[in-house]
Amino acid sequence: MSKGTSRQKHVEITREAFQQIGYQLVDDIAYFLDTIDHRPVAQASTPSDIRDSINVKKLPETGTDPAELMLTLSKLLYDHSTFNGHPRFWGYITSSATPIGILSDLLAASVNPNVGGWNLSPIATEIEKQTVKWLAELIDYPSDCGGLLVSGGNMANFVGFVAARQQQSSANVREEGMGTSKLRVYVSAETHTWIQKATDLFGLGTNSIRWIPTTNQVMNLDDLESQIVHDQQQGDQPFMVVGTAGTVSTGAIDPLEEIAALCKKYNCWFHVDGAYGAFVAALPDAPDAIKGISMADSVAMDPHKWLYSPLEAGCALVRDPQHLLDGFSYHPEYYHFGKDDEDPKINFYEYGFQNSRGFRALKVWMGLRHAGKNGAVGMIQDDIRLGSLMADALRAHGDFEVFTEDLSITTFRFNPGNLGGEQLNDFNSKLLTILQEEGKIFLSNAVIDGNFLLRSCIVNFRTEEEDVTAVPEIVAEAARQLLATWTAN
Ligand SMILES: *Cc1c(COP(=O)(O)O)cnc(C)c1O
Repeated sequence: MSKGTSRQKHVEITREAFQQIGYQLVDDIAYFLDTIDHRPVAQASTPSDIRDSINVKKLPETGTDPAELMLTLSKLLYDHSTFNGHPRFWGYITSSATPIGILSDLLAASVNPNVGGWNLSPIATEIEKQTVKWLAELIDYPSDCGGLLVSGGNMANFVGFVAARQQQSSANVREEGMGTSKLRVYVSAETHTWIQKATDLFGLGTNSIRWIPTTNQVMNLDDLESQIVHDQQQGDQPFMVVGTAGTVSTGAIDPLEEIAALCKKYNCWFHVDGAYGAFVAALPDAPDAIKGISMADSVAMDPHKWLYSPLEAGCALVRDPQHLLDGFSYHPEYYHFGKDDEDPKINFYEYGFQNSRGFRALKVWMGLRHAGKNGAVGMIQDDIRLGSLMADALRAHGDFEVFTEDLSITTFRFNPGNLGGEQLNDFNSKLLTILQEEGKIFLSNAVIDGNFLLRSCIVNFRTEEEDVTAVPEIVAEAARQLLATWTAN
């Protein structure tokens, strides 16, 4: 660091102080990770409780000693967080974070490359390119595809959506906007809400979505085809079909090969939302339904789900890299990023939404190197195995109905037998809140055919057999207590 004294540098920290604060922080983090299973996975607290704990109300006029700041802050985080790294966290689709990814983020922030332009980030850009290639390879997607790291599944899906919109529009949408376009997109009724944001943000409007009915959570192909034909007859333009590999509620996989064939027949872009489930294409016994993922024009996947990368890390893959440039590239005169056709320097700002970009790829790349492909696959297999074990334990218990069991998601409810319809839904909804506040396990919910269900999704390399076999009794105990007050009312 520069030792000069000719200017103010209130944010600089001396090497000695940095070491001291850093060593202390690393010690704290190591202790935190080592004892995470002794902490409540979540807590009952209100927003005002949390605001009070922060204890600084005003923007400070003057600075504070960084060692003191770091100490109070780490404590604040450990005391008031929901821990997705806890072995009994199974809510939503949120994974525990790899320790190597945690350290990688620190390293990435230290060198701080701007991965928008090659010249600003030579090693980071090349590592990101390799990460994209490895992720493609992992799921058997053509590894000469284009792609980039983004913040998550939503953004990865948006990248595919914008590439599709550009390729499939007859008008020049980038210059003229959507005009009177009648582009229509086909998705199953179980598709994640990103599709609403995408059609809204990129000018099609949510009425352009055709929600295709499902059977057992997967898209009905006959309904898909007849809707496409119907729309064509109406003068609309079917342009994109989204297949989901691992629905957010239950982990169901749409029949991707068959959808690919229909896309070919009707000249539609085939996008796969594999934010959660794309990774199972890497398993030696991958389910048949996922095999068609290699035929997709674009794929979204989330390393911050089943590769356990710390948030945020999503990845968009697009079969033809030119389609990303077609969708996103501009060349303002204030960018002097030379091109060398012999050995091209790619500038990631041209491939997606962001301009300045952080080095997200590092934590993903390091995670893949730490575990290796076999390690990554093995951990996914264990998550799936433990999901089934939980389902078995719930069925064996007798007070539960298991509704679905797919990938690593199990959906179920407590059924005392004497509550009907709405009452039973209310009961399980209240039960979920109690369980979350109690902090022994963390579940979320699904609604299937109007039934409110508890839902466990294991993307957690810390979860062990004894964690999942403990579930029925933990839930039943909370349910019995709730039931006692319930019937008294
Ligand atoms: C998680 C998920 C998303 C959204 O991804 P984020 O990383 O939360 O933005 C979209 N689709 C599916 C199927 C998902 O599982």
